[in-house]
Amino acid sequence: MSLIVQKFGGTSVGDAERIRNVARRVVASQRAGHKVAVIVSAMAGETNALVALAKELGGDAPDPREYDALISIGESKTIALLAMAIQRLGGRARSFTGAQMGMLTDTAHTRARIQSIATERIRQVLDEGGVAVLAGFQGIDEDGNVTTLGRGGSDTSAVAVAAALAADVCEIYTDVDGVYTSDPNLVPAARKLERVSFEEMLEMASLGSKVLQIRAVEFAGKYRVRLRVLSSFEEEGDGTLITFEEDEKMEQAIISGIAFNRDEAKITVMSVPDRPGIAYAILGPIADANIDVDMIIQNASVDGITDFSFTVHRNDYQKALGIAKKVQAHIGAKGVVGDNRVCKVSMVGVGMRSHVGIASQMFRTLAEEGINIEMISTSEIKISVVVDEKYLELAVRVLHKAFGLDQPA
Ligand code: ADP
Ligand code: ASP
Ligand code: MG
Repeated sequence: MSLIVQKFGGTSVGDAERIRNVARRVVASQRAGHKVAVIVSAMAGETNALVALAKELGGDAPDPREYDALISIGESKTIALLAMAIQRLGGRARSFTGAQMGMLTDTAHTRARIQSIATERIRQVLDEGGVAVLAGFQGIDEDGNVTTLGRGGSDTSAVAVAAALAADVCEIYTDVDGVYTSDPNLVPAARKLERVSFEEMLEMASLGSKVLQIRAVEFAGKYRVRLRVLSSFEEEGDGTLITFEEDEKMEQAIISGIAFNRDEAKITVMSVPDRPGIAYAILGPIADANIDVDMIIQNASVDGITDFSFTVHRNDYQKALGIAKKVQAHIGAKGVVGDNRVCKVSMVGVGMRSHVGIASQMFRTLAEEGINIEMISTSEIKISVVVDEKYLELAVRVLHKAFGLDQPA
């Protein structure tokens, strides 16, 4: 008898009929002889609605404790509904909130990290032949405060539960039938991958492919959780397996996928004196304000003067711009400019390690479409460019075609 963890995302539990459908699938898996723990998200749109309410009543900086207490409740609703639906089908089910299942996290509200999961109560339900229905996204800190794991965090709850239970597989059911070469909702020619290596999935998730939250992929890597992405609407199909071994059967494409992120903003501090300590003088206060910096570029200096650019999440743009302007006066730079209408497009593939010329082909493809590249960053298995957001769709589509991603591997 195998133990399966199944996670259903927001769209998959979007209304009563869909919850009933999930209940049917879960009961079918159980009747096929498996022990099943299910993690669910809030019903589609619920978390966004709660976030909007928090803004309305709490302003731009609501108390993080109360904010988490509020935005976590969508999941509490879904677990009870799903448990009822399973019971209605004749199955046994018991729901648990994050606190009830002992999902202990640190205290970093809105982006808490899981520290441990007390699995006894879950195991007891499974051993008694029931389905454990668990709230994703929520945790609790040592002092009993409710925490949340960051948007998309139910994926991470699922993988963490799978690791804690030593489950045979963690199945992520969503509104697409697997991981594609790019977001199928933006690129109609995108192709489903049968397998994707863990390393590539990690890059894709970190570069904006929200099909899996990055921490879920990290967890899967750390605890070697067998992870599969599948459709919650289609009965057939094997979805996409995230593999750890690069076996012969792996698709040998140089590029496996194209990810993008619309939430970027760029800030440039102009005419900065090029001396030791400048990067720290600019980025130190940004880090102190808890703002994550992504790309950083410092140009070669001319006559001891250079430009210094970096990108941040669009939500942090105004705050970061304000800080940069304050710093500018201190360090004797000439000015600060910013642009929050940029996006990042990234090509990912382990094949880049053994192939040269990928970057130049990427730049040529974008140049032929008249797309200006504003920033570039590379690592062993990815190349990212920042471009004007109006070119996002065009850039992704032409790269997808130029690198043959629409052709079967
Ligand atoms: P859920 O609510 O089930 O967690 P998400 O909306 O978080 O679902 O993630 C699924 C979405 O991820 C898809 O609808 C798709 O638009 C998007 N996506 C982005 N990149 C990819 C990709 N490479 N492959 C598949 N889906 C992707
Ligand atoms: N409901 C949360 C969100 O919308 C968590 C999740 O769906 O994974 O971000
Ligand atoms: Mg998600």
